[in-house]
Amino acid sequence: MRIVEIREMTASLSSTMRNAFIDFSKMTLSVVAVITDVVRDGKPVVGYGFNSNGRYAQGGVLRERLIPRLLEADPESLLDEAGTNFDPVRVHSCMMTNEKPGGHGERAFAVGALDAAIWDAVAKIEEKSLHQIFAERFNGGAFDEAVRVYPGGGYYDPEKGTDGLKAEMQGYRDAGYTLMKMKIGGAPLDDDMRRIEAALEVTGGGEFLAVDANAALDLDRATAYAGAMSQYGLAWFEEPVDPLDYEAHAELAKVCTMPLATAENVFSLIDAKNLLQYGGLRRDRDWLQFDPSLCYGPSEFIAIVKMADEMGWARRRHGPHGGQQLGLALAAGLQLGGTETYPLVFQPFGGFGDDVVIEDGMVRVPNAPGLGVETKSELYNTVLKPLAQG
Ligand code: MG
Repeated sequence: MRIVEIREMTASLSSTMRNAFIDFSKMTLSVVAVITDVVRDGKPVVGYGFNSNGRYAQGGVLRERLIPRLLEADPESLLDEAGTNFDPVRVHSCMMTNEKPGGHGERAFAVGALDAAIWDAVAKIEEKSLHQIFAERFNGGAFDEAVRVYPGGGYYDPEKGTDGLKAEMQGYRDAGYTLMKMKIGGAPLDDDMRRIEAALEVTGGGEFLAVDANAALDLDRATAYAGAMSQYGLAWFEEPVDPLDYEAHAELAKVCTMPLATAENVFSLIDAKNLLQYGGLRRDRDWLQFDPSLCYGPSEFIAIVKMADEMGWARRRHGPHGGQQLGLALAAGLQLGGTETYPLVFQPFGGFGDDVVIEDGMVRVPNAPGLGVETKSELYNTVLKPLAQG
């Protein structure tokens, strides 16, 4: 059993929208296909993986360091004890050979794409869905058959305005979502309050609307936003300040009555530990949103969840960022508190399989083998299959 070839490409996620910190006109991501010599249903098993949005492709790291290491390794060194499947832990440590500790920046997304692809292959080799594999290995076999999901949306868009925002939110409601999220922090506070009130006309109660400042605020502005928003009883205030400013999180948590949410831009186990130890986050109400495809992949994401377990965090307080099938598999398999999705943006990567139905804000978890990317036809037919076939 061995990896025959690994192909990678840069795909565009370009769009006209922006959040409070960046625009997405030049956004890209890395996509990988790990082609194995294992045959299932008469065809070689191919594992697929890709980054999530917002952090750009990492083709150089993949081509120059990670892919050569995996292809040059003794094939048996990448297998489990029985030699019947790939071992994600061994593959992960092979990728990280000669990589110094610390500095968990862009390397983390390159490893994350390959790690996701290895897990996809592992599940396909066992002919099981990935959420089932996660449940068996890390959750005593228990998994959720339905997961709470919410659309990440409500971006600033020059052409949309407040009416467009309301129409977008109404579209989510019509599609079966109950909880939704919008961007703030990219306009004057008063304007953002008007946008929130417009969105609330559609969502109903504040508990059905979360807001995301994408780390654009300093502590003073974040505190002012928290005060102004306290009247609405919103679901959460996401990335209020710089993701690595733990002191600012701790200060804000002292005065902010609404739940806080963060961690999509925290990329390693040790950074996660520091956030939980020093960020002042409240275990009874705040949300942890580590992104499995940005934080060195599902392997490290699972290690972070286990560490958070030991620090007293309930698994239901995790809601993976990223809006893809990987977050859904982890949320179901580890019985987390839900996951984000992108029904309208970051296509064809965002969102779930073609047949997935949203009902009362919940999605039934599909049983396709592996990650299930083959059930997302535009993604599979226009990007993944051509990549694997070369
Ligand atoms: Mg966010």
